[in-house]
Amino acid sequence: YVSNQMRTEELAALDAAHHLHPFTNGDELNAKGARVILRAKGVTLTDSEGNDILDAMAGLWCVNIGYGREELAEVAARQIRELPYYNTFFQTTHVPAIALATKLAELAPGDLNHVFFAMGGSDANDTNIRMVRRYWAAKGKPEKQVIISRKNAYHGSTMGGASLGGMAAMHKQGGLPIPNIVHIGQPHWYAEGGEMSPEEFGLMRARELEEKIAELGEGKVAAFIAEPIQGAGGVVIPPESYWPEIQRICDAHEILLIADEVITGFGRTGNWFGSQTLNIRPHIMTIAKGLSSGYAPIGGSLVCDEVAEVLNGSGEFAHGYTYSAHPVAAAIALENLRILEEEKIVEHAGTVAGPYLAEKWAALADHPLAGEARSIGMMATLALTPDKASRAAFASDEGTIGLICRERCFANNLVMRHVGDRMIIAPPLIMQPSDIDVMIERAVRSLDETYDKVKAEGLLKAR
Ligand code: PLP
Repeated sequence: YVSNQMRTEELAALDAAHHLHPFTNGDELNAKGARVILRAKGVTLTDSEGNDILDAMAGLWCVNIGYGREELAEVAARQIRELPYYNTFFQTTHVPAIALATKLAELAPGDLNHVFFAMGGSDANDTNIRMVRRYWAAKGKPEKQVIISRKNAYHGSTMGGASLGGMAAMHKQGGLPIPNIVHIGQPHWYAEGGEMSPEEFGLMRARELEEKIAELGEGKVAAFIAEPIQGAGGVVIPPESYWPEIQRICDAHEILLIADEVITGFGRTGNWFGSQTLNIRPHIMTIAKGLSSGYAPIGGSLVCDEVAEVLNGSGEFAHGYTYSAHPVAAAIALENLRILEEEKIVEHAGTVAGPYLAEKWAALADHPLAGEARSIGMMATLALTPDKASRAAFASDEGTIGLICRERCFANNLVMRHVGDRMIIAPPLIMQPSDIDVMIERAVRSLDETYDKVKAEGLLKAR
């Protein structure tokens, strides 16, 4: 029988024998053994060897309130005793669903007053595909089917989510995207802006949306979907010119705007929603992750009054999940929102931790291996480059240097993630300046070690 009393090697061997990991090269991982995380508190994970690891990724961008909050355990236990499960299909509802939907309507910007629940972000985006097509059909425009997304976007891992996403590696596996989903360029000035100024480049990339609508015909386009700030794509903070132009284009044409706020929601950018930080007015917003701070799998689609009215007025929407509005997950999410609000954690991210991180993170740009170092709220990105001036990529296979850096971080008890040769963080919003100091100190040490290794192995070459 498996327990946390077992030795690390035994646990890792059983994991290798029976557990297929997401987004992982299985043989490679199994050869070295996965690191076993036993418990966590605040911003710190503890592994089976007794190491305390600073979690600068908040799990997978989700543990916004930090680990180990007793209140959530209590709410979960209470809800399991009272009503562990019931569905919302059969003309029934329950108090956690009502309470959470009501609270979300209060917190969400504009008239996003309605919510369709899912278990996470991928399936919420699947809902969005079906919902926008249903909406246009109900309005007598069934030919409005196409959803425009962006290259290097991440919208999940289901067939629908991965199709909306613009990850080339995901599309290659499994014959994606599904029909009627197309992708325009991303506003990634650092990697793709060439000689253009960031503002010119941002405008150019936004106008690709208008060009695509013209090419397809407005009568064919249902929606545009985008993350306010691309997360898994490498924390791509768009030039300031980008979102106002996207908003103008969406307003000028008859299409719905879906903001995928799975990462940027619930305080990540220093406001409740990234749409508020970037002044975006979506018709639909995808939510998950920080909704429950990862304590339970729950996500959903926040929907504006008009879309909800059309949906409600057009007969049965033949869509739903067994665990839509799961009462235990909903109760946990509601308690998480209470903590975020009452403890002013979103304000802390916006006015204390975020600005402190911005200052310390920006200074990383002085490191010999660093190109741009930027942050917004509590998410940040650091490009690694062999040549600051030209923003050149490394000659080695993309991701080689990033992986070295990530492994140095892990060895130094810091979880940072790499996307290609770019390092990213999204720490718990509760981080104090003293935690940020420790994080930066470990990041610098890891960068120094990466630099030494890259130099020693002759990898400090531009492509
Ligand atoms: N959308 C965005 C923007 C995400 O970052 C993610 C996950 O990282 C998803 C959707 C998918 O969410 P999930 O993994 O909960 O299905």
